[in-house]
Amino acid sequence: MTETVNIVCPHCDATNRLPAARDARTAKCGRCAKPLFEGQPVSLSAARFRKHLAHSQIPLVADFWAAWCGPCRAVAPVFAKAAADLEPRARFVKIDVDAEPALAQAYGVRGIPALFLFKDGKVAANQAGLPDPGFFRRWLDEHAPV
Ligand code: ZN
Repeated sequence: MTETVNIVCPHCDATNRLPAARDARTAKCGRCAKPLFEGQPVSLSAARFRKHLAHSQIPLVADFWAAWCGPCRAVAPVFAKAAADLEPRARFVKIDVDAEPALAQAYGVRGIPALFLFKDGKVAANQAGLPDPGFFRRWLDEHAPV
């Protein structure tokens, strides 16, 4: 039996089953034919986030943010670079807490930016604010080693 990994498409949310050995960076979605990874964070609604959380077999790194939040703007370029550097080890997603207050509340987000690492559909770790630019790589090394 070949080992597979389920990757949720960042465009159409279809679950794609890839051989684990395959380099997912070059893979395209079986439904919409767009790339499964583009080296950038994906903005998700609560409904889309739940699909990714339920079906993705790679960790999800989430940035809960809002447009008016200065510290969130400081995190954004670091988060984008982490997506470019660390995909396809993890999917990097952004949740706008003004658009999705119930989702933020469900995870106990009190202040933003709030960073969450989800693994196997559950919260593996969370962090208020960004300690330093190398944080995301260390976080994945700690909680989702390759
Ligand atoms: Zn797709």
